[in-house]
Amino acid sequence: MPRRRYPARVPAKARQRYARRRQRRLDRVDNDLTDDQWVLLQEAWLGCAYCGADGVALQRDCVMPISRGGRYTIANVVPACASCNASKHNSEVTGWLRRKKLDERAFLERWALVLQSLRSEPEPLEGTEAPVLK
Ligand SMILES: [Zn+2]
Repeated sequence: MPRRRYPARVPAKARQRYARRRQRRLDRVDNDLTDDQWVLLQEAWLGCAYCGADGVALQRDCVMPISRGGRYTIANVVPACASCNASKHNSEVTGWLRRKKLDERAFLERWALVLQSLRSEPEPLEGTEAPVLK
């Protein structure tokens, strides 16, 4: 059998490399919460999404943590006070709300309403379809 000049697997590896680069590019797009969207989110929630605290500095919290497959998008980020953000950390949101004796149902309903109102902006915001909680 003749010796190959080039390893046969190079093209496949190049394809994989290309696919990985493409995936990273898509990930960047999907994870793109703009400053404008963050302002809209804060205006829609008027305080901490979880405990309702207002007049405090709000942080961007991923409802479904990145570590659980959540993304940094307008549909998954809510304003949270430092206390809630630190306490929730990587917890699954509904279990955490229950442990904190916060109103889980009220949060989910409010969240749906906020996303709905963002969808009906004069210029509909992309990526505000209701997220699926795991
Ligand atoms: Zn809070």
